[in-house]
Parts: sequence; structure tokens; C-alpha cells
Amino acid sequence: MINVKDKTVTILGAARSGIAAAKLLKQKQARVFVSDLAAKEQKSLEIQTLADENIDFDFGQHSKIILDADFVVLSPGIHSHLPVVQNLISNKIPVYSEIEVASWFCESPIIAITGSNGKTTTTTLIGEMLRAETPQSIVAGNIGSALSDFVLTSDENIWATVEVSSFQLETIDTFHPRVAIILNLAPNHLDWYDSFEDYIEAKLLILKNLQEEDYLIYNADDELLSEKVNHCPANKMTFSLQNKDASIFLDGGKLISDDKNLIGTNEIKLNGNHNYQNAMAAILAAKIAGIKDEVISNVLKEFKGVEHRLEYVGDIEGISFINDSKATTIESLAVALTSFETPIILIAGGKDKGSDYSKLNNLIADNVRQVILIGTATVSY
Ligand code: ADP
Repeated sequence: MINVKDKTVTILGAARSGIAAAKLLKQKQARVFVSDLAAKEQKSLEIQTLADENIDFDFGQHSKIILDADFVVLSPGIHSHLPVVQNLISNKIPVYSEIEVASWFCESPIIAITGSNGKTTTTTLIGEMLRAETPQSIVAGNIGSALSDFVLTSDENIWATVEVSSFQLETIDTFHPRVAIILNLAPNHLDWYDSFEDYIEAKLLILKNLQEEDYLIYNADDELLSEKVNHCPANKMTFSLQNKDASIFLDGGKLISDDKNLIGTNEIKLNGNHNYQNAMAAILAAKIAGIKDEVISNVLKEFKGVEHRLEYVGDIEGISFINDSKATTIESLAVALTSFETPIILIAGGKDKGSDYSKLNNLIADNVRQVILIGTATVSY
């Protein structure tokens, strides 16, 4: 555990994770200062929390005070390429993500999940499997609560399941999961990264501190990913939609692991091959954490998915309405378009992230009857 007593710390970003890190570091007797660009009027709740905790703050700007720090903590939404962060780095001030700082105080073994798509679904599913046996199991990350919120009550007998984005991984140092999961690598956030290679490098930082006794779970069907993780010394476990050499694979509508049929896909409420991949990754992680096969399959039979992810909303005059508003990449939209037998009216758009929309041409021609475009990305299609 790192001693932060009397260290001067700046936290950039006063959303959920920033506030949680501020409270944690204050409890550990650091001198904490929180800075956020949002105007004071937009942050009255956060200001109240900080004032209650006796934590200093500044809103509406990042003043020079932020440079007066032994280290700086970044909220997950703040990318290290931003000028404010680059300025800190050029002033030789160490910059860490919230997940890194929280991990300094975390006694629980960590299952960390990254990948371009499926993180929240997989994290939630693993959390349900662990909680079915140990209700106090921790589930955190970009998923409702920050790891900083839980670490003070963490315990080596309770697992922590944590969703981590490439942004957070960029500023880790000693973050060391017992189990790391990489679900897939697809072009994403290309508005933030100079190239796909840079983005992949950030994702692969999840492997940085893995040792031989740790576990790496990854998608054997993703060739690029399989090649990139080759050097990792951890025990490797794989999942696949077709490869029978994988630790768990789909065969004839069944998920098979250790020569055993764990569950049939017709018994799982989640739909689509992408979700079977998420389920297989979750199964492997839960098994490493010691969860019994029977508990795992019972959770899979009950789990209805996470809201806004191919979420069934209801039927009106014979038309089913599906909310997939979390599908923010071309790949996510592609998997959604292949998850239904019936013709689709697609409402899509939002902010363009530099993706190649032409990949959707055939899928749209084959599966979609009508497209309704919204948002600034409309001009990119
Ligand atoms: P993330 O947290 O990585 O954004 P989610 O679990 O929230 O992922 O799912 C978001 C969307 O991504 C889903 O609605 C689905 O369209 C797509 N998706 C989910 N899992 C996968 C996967 N394993 N491979 C490809 N796309 C996926």
C-alpha cells in the first residue's frame, strides 16, 4: 500500500470517480484539491460533498494551483492527450488514473475487463455470478460506482470486478489485476488516438503488471488480439465461437468447457453471438474465482442484459422497439444488425468518432428496411 499522508494531490474532474478518489485520499490524510472546468452552478451537489469533507476545490477553470501537486489523479472522462494533462506531464508531475490510485488501497483480488465492446455487459455478468455466492463482491469502474468507493472495505476474500477503459489504462503504473480480460480489439475512439495502433497499445496496458500466477482471458477468434498478447507471461485462457481448442467454446448451441456442456444458448436470455462471447469470458473469470458451475449457469439463465444494450422496450402494433443506444461503434451496430431475424428500421447517428461507415453497407442492404439518421454524424454516413 502506498503512503499518501501529507502528499499534495490534485484531482482533475469532479464527477463520480473524481469525488470518490478525493474522499479516499482525504481519508488517507493526503492534502487534496479538486479542479473541474464546469461552472459552479452545474456542480452544486459535488460542491456540497467536497465542502462536507473539507476538501478544497475550484470550478470553472484549471488554475495554476493544479501544478502544486506531488501527483495528479485523472477522472475517467479526462484524456491524457488534453493540453492540461500534457502540461502536467511536461512539468514532471506524475499523473494517475482513478483506478490506479484506488488499486493502491485495494485488498481484493481484481478481475479487470477491457476491450472495445461488451465491457459493461461482461462486468455486470461476472458481478452477478460472484454476488450469487458472496453478496459483498465489488463491481466498479465505468459502471455506476468507482473502485475508490469500495477499497476501504475491500478484503482478500472478496473479489472486485472492474471495468476499465483505454483512457484509464493509459495512466496506470502498478495496477495489477489477478485476472485480466480483453474481449476484442476494434477501431474505437479514433477521435482521441492518432492511430488504431496507439489505441491498441493503450488497451494492452492491462497486461503491464501481469505475472505467471495471474490469468489472462481473451477472445481466440480475434486474430490481432491473439497475436498481441503472445508475450504475456500469465496463464492464458481463451473463448471462441468455433475453435474447439479454446478453454470454452460454442458448439452446436452449447457452451463447452473442460469437455462439459455448461449451458445451451437456448437457456441463456442474452441474444446474439457477441453476447455468447461475453458470457464465455464471464464464465472463465467466475470459474477462476471459484464459483461453482451450477451457480454460473443459474445466473446465465436469469440475466436479462444491461439496459440500453439491445434492450427490449416493448411492442406497439406488432412492431418491437429495441433500445441499443449504448452501441456507439460501427462494430456494435454491426452485431445488433445480425441479432434479429425480422426486418429492421434503424435509427442511428450521434457524434462521429472517425469510423469507417462503409463496413455497414452490406449489413444494411441485407437487414434494414429503412434508416433514420440523427445528430452531427448524419453528414458522415
Ligand atoms: P461497452 O461497455 O464495451 O461499451 P456494452 O456491454 O455496454 O459494451 O455493450 C454495448 C454494445 O456493444 C451492445 O449494445 C452491443 O451492440 C455491442 N457489444 C456488446 N458485446 C459485444 C461483443 N462482445 N462484441 C461486439 N459487440 C458487442
